[in-house]
Amino acid sequence: MLPEAKGGGGHGPIIKWLIEEEFAKVSPGLAFALAPAIGEAYYLLGMAPKLVDKYLDAALDGTAKFTFTGTDPVGSFNHTEAPVFAVKDGDDWILNGTKLFATYGTIAKFHFPSGKCDDGKFRQWYVDAETPGVEAKAVDKKLGLAGTMNGDVSYRNVRVPHEQICNVPNGAEFDRIGNQSGYIGACCCAVGGAQGILAKTVDYMKQRTSHGEPLGSMTVIADHLARFATRIEAAQCFLHTELQGFRKGYGGKPHTSMLKPFCCDMFADVARGCLELWGGIGVNEDVGVSRYIRDALTMLAADRPATAHYQQIAHVVLGLDVKKTLSI
Ligand SMILES: Cc1cc2nc3c(=O)[nH]c(=O)nc-3n(C[C@H](O)[C@H](O)[C@H](O)COP(=O)(O)OP(=O)(O)OC[C@H]3O[C@@H](n4cnc5c(N)ncnc54)[C@H](O)[C@@H]3O)c2cc1C
Repeated sequence: MLPEAKGGGGHGPIIKWLIEEEFAKVSPGLAFALAPAIGEAYYLLGMAPKLVDKYLDAALDGTAKFTFTGTDPVGSFNHTEAPVFAVKDGDDWILNGTKLFATYGTIAKFHFPSGKCDDGKFRQWYVDAETPGVEAKAVDKKLGLAGTMNGDVSYRNVRVPHEQICNVPNGAEFDRIGNQSGYIGACCCAVGGAQGILAKTVDYMKQRTSHGEPLGSMTVIADHLARFATRIEAAQCFLHTELQGFRKGYGGKPHTSMLKPFCCDMFADVARGCLELWGGIGVNEDVGVSRYIRDALTMLAADRPATAHYQQIAHVVLGLDVKKTLSI
C-alpha cells in the first residue's frame, strides 16, 4: 500500500480489505492481524510523511509493525473520565498513561498513541518503540483471534517533539482513516470468517449421514444453512457497498457504525449455528471449526462493541439526544 514511487504497490485499501476477507475464510485471526500490519498504518504515514523514508525498507519487507494505542483503562470511548495523557512542555509533549489491548503492542517498531491533552483536546502522535519510557507487556491469553497478538503499553514520561503530532487534517478525516477503516477491516474478517465456517459446515452436512441420508438433505438443516448463506450475502453486499463509499470519500454518514455490529453479530450467529450442526465433533479442536466462534466472539469487542456503534447511529442518523461518544 506504499506509493509506487517509494517501491510499494500503490494500492488503495480496498485490495487489502478483499485480501482480509479471503484470509478470514481460513483464519479470521490472521486476517485481523493484517489490518494494522499493512493497512491503516500506511494511511497515517501519509499524514506523517517523514516516517515513510525512515521506515521504508522495513515497511516494504514487512518487518515494520505498527500499533495504534488508544484504549484507555477507563474505557476506550469514555472521554469524559479519560485521564490527561499528554502535557505540553516547551516544544515537546510528555506522555504518561497506559493503553490496553493494542494489536501488535509488543512487537511494533512504531506506536500511534492517542489520548487527552492538558488543554482537554484529544491528539495523536507517532512514537518510536525504542523511546525511553515506552514499555509493552503481551496479553498472553485471550478468547480468540489467536493469530493477532495484543499488548498493554505503558508510557512513562515519554518525551515526544511537537513535530511528531500526526498531521491529521480534521476530525472527520481522522475518523475516516483511523477508525472507519479499522471497522471495515473487522467486517471483512467477519464476512470471510462466516463464509469459511459455513463452507466447512455445508461440506460436512453432505458427508455426515443419518438414517442413510446426508444431514444436509434434511429440510430443517438445509433451511438453517440457507438462512446463514442469506445473512452472509446481505452482510457482504452491505460491506462491498461501503468499500466503494470509502473510495469516494467519507460522506459524513456513519455507515461503518451500522456495518461493524451488523457483520460481527452475523458472524457470531452463523458460527454458533454452524458449530451446533457439527454435534460433538465440532468442539474437538483438531477439527478446526470451534475457533471460528471464539474469533467471532472476540470480534464483538474489538473495534468497539455494538452498543457504542448503535449509539452513534441513534445520535447521527436518528437524531436522538444521546451522547455522541465515538468520534474524538
Ligand atoms: C482483538 C482486539 C484487538 C484490539 N486492538 C486494539 C488496538 O489495536 N488498539 C486499541 O487502542 N485498542 C484495541 N482494542 C481494544 C478495543 O478497542 C476495546 O476493547 C473496545 O473498544 C471496547 O472498549 P473497552 O474495552 O474500554 O470497553 P468499555 O468501555 O469498558 O465498555 C464495556 C461495555 O459497555 C459499553 N459501553 C461503554 N460505555 C458506554 C456508553 N457510554 N454508553 C453505552 N454503552 C457503553 C461498551 O459498548 C461495552 O459493551 C482491541 C480489542 C480486542 C478485543
